[in-house]
Amino acid sequence: MKKLVIVALAVAAAACVSESTMRVEANQQFQQMRRQLPISTDPAQRAYIFCVAQSVLRVVEEPYASRAWEIEVFDMPDANAFAMPGGKIGIFSGLLDVAQDQHQLAAVIGHEIAHVTREHQVAQANRGMMTQGAAAVLGASVGMQQEAQALAQVGLTLPFSRQHEREADEVGLIYMAEAGFDPRASITLWKNMEEKSTGPRPPQFLSTHPAPEDRMGKLIAGMSGALDRYNAALARGVRPVCE
Ligand SMILES: [Zn+2]
Repeated sequence: MKKLVIVALAVAAAACVSESTMRVEANQQFQQMRRQLPISTDPAQRAYIFCVAQSVLRVVEEPYASRAWEIEVFDMPDANAFAMPGGKIGIFSGLLDVAQDQHQLAAVIGHEIAHVTREHQVAQANRGMMTQGAAAVLGASVGMQQEAQALAQVGLTLPFSRQHEREADEVGLIYMAEAGFDPRASITLWKNMEEKSTGPRPPQFLSTHPAPEDRMGKLIAGMSGALDRYNAALARGVRPVCE
């Protein structure tokens, strides 16, 4: 019994992955993806995606706004996108089949950035302790530093919880609207995503972003506030034109 308590305490002590550990780990993973995956060489496609992402990033709050944000476009047919702690954004070119205009693309990017600014990956890493995968990784590692790194890696790969998805939808909607993108496009975007989910090539995005059942209801509930922010942005002259 005593032994069990000691083990539990040791696990609890180790199970605290900081946001800064996550940033280091995410940066390594991002640079590795850049080396290993095909990078889009289509200048027009890259410019379009950078334009949308940079427009959304302009409304992000501190301390996240000052992170070393990097955006990469991977030449991959999957409909997928991610953002990682420290400000690394990856967009797979196949996402453009689902996100069909700048407003819809801003909805995905706003959602992804919200996962970072609400530190969902950090929470995932700390929750990752409870999973078997994490236990296996931890079993093979020695020392607190390695344990933290291993947990950070797990945190970057685990699917988000539906609660995190709801929050990323909510915050992402605000980001896109403040950046001058029409928040109503988020509804079209998530409908497109759902439609493709039963097709021959379901969006890879859905494997790490489980759709909350009440997504549409929540989006509609937040729409009036988002439209106010959108109209205020337009009135300030914030009207991104990404092509
Ligand atoms: Zn998500």
